[in-house]
Amino acid sequence: MAEPEYIYIPVAELEGFITRIFCAAGCDATEAARLSNHLVGANLAGHDSHGVVRVPRYIEWQKAGYVLAGRRAEVVMDGGAFALLDGQFGFGQTVAQQATEFGIARAVEHGSCIIGLRNAGHIGRTGDYAEMAAKAGLISIHFVNVAGSVLVAPFGGRERRFSTAPFSVGVPLPSGPVILDFATSLVAEGKVLVASNGGKALPPDALVTAEGELSGDPHTLYGDYPEVGPRNAALGTGAIRAFGEHKGSGLALMCELLAGALTGGGTSGPIKERGRICNGMLSIYLSPKHFGDEAAFQRAAADYIAWVKSCGPIDPDAPVLAPGEPENRRRAERTVSGIPLTREAWQGILNAAAGLGINGP
Ligand code: NAD
Repeated sequence: MAEPEYIYIPVAELEGFITRIFCAAGCDATEAARLSNHLVGANLAGHDSHGVVRVPRYIEWQKAGYVLAGRRAEVVMDGGAFALLDGQFGFGQTVAQQATEFGIARAVEHGSCIIGLRNAGHIGRTGDYAEMAAKAGLISIHFVNVAGSVLVAPFGGRERRFSTAPFSVGVPLPSGPVILDFATSLVAEGKVLVASNGGKALPPDALVTAEGELSGDPHTLYGDYPEVGPRNAALGTGAIRAFGEHKGSGLALMCELLAGALTGGGTSGPIKERGRICNGMLSIYLSPKHFGDEAAFQRAAADYIAWVKSCGPIDPDAPVLAPGEPENRRRAERTVSGIPLTREAWQGILNAAAGLGINGP
């Protein structure tokens, strides 16, 4: 397969352009800037799957009425130590930010808090919310699912049952937070999207066909598709595989139970007809300040991480890293180089913009 060809867009220029697109789509300036900042932030962190490649799909979802501008997360139930919020089908980056702010405020005051969020539009890169909590000095754990999006085969299966159900943990430390953040599928769906748009190829065992053969071909998930244009997972017959064999598959199931069934937002499926998809999120916030000796925790954690990282690498050019380090490195690189986008991905964004009467930079 030929290496994909990338163009590099300066960060500020891309962020301004994406903000203009969401303004033209009917978001107010604050929401448009938030969406743009989150998506470009995902590209900066190296997660192109959750970056601006999503813009055409977000615009489609908004046109279809699946996701709504200007919504606020409403409190359904407030138990003090825990609360359930409903995202009202608002843009995920808006309502998940509100839910995270709610959980942070409670945990900063009382030491801990559990927040369920349901009916949120696509919340994007889950690590963002762990980073928000870490900035406020809090540990956080986030179980996420995607109601109505059944894409992933459980361990040993060749049919779709789970969503890509991400999981994230953030631990604040003086040297910077440790952020673990991943999809429980072998690859995030966005990585299949990126590969189908001429970007980084998938591992050859990332997908499974309906016949049970391993595959790295995005057509397994999307069926036939044009070079540039929307991708529809309903047209493919295969599935993404759950990561980590039976253990990752079990974690995906727990994300569906906690973020989907418990919040009332719903699990990945079974679905009668594809349409609106929503993120659910169950978040646990914990303040190390309240929990015990914060300074001792920070020392023990920092010493331990340093020891883990001192582990002799298999490949001398690939040292052992802590979670979050690859993202920090990418951020530093891409702040300078700009955001790399394949021509197909960029054209898809330009087309979405043109549909709203906006010209590209
Ligand atoms: P991934 O496979 O790239 O894994 C990322 C995690 O692994 C990070 O914590 C990273 O720091 C760590 N990591 C990577 N390389 C490492 C190394 N060499 N050493 C140590 N740690 C390392 O991520 P993914 O599964 O492709 O997920 C990408 C993004 O997609 C995530 O931000 C996730 O939240 C998001 N996502 C969102 C949804 C949604 O519905 N909103 C669904 C699925 C995924």
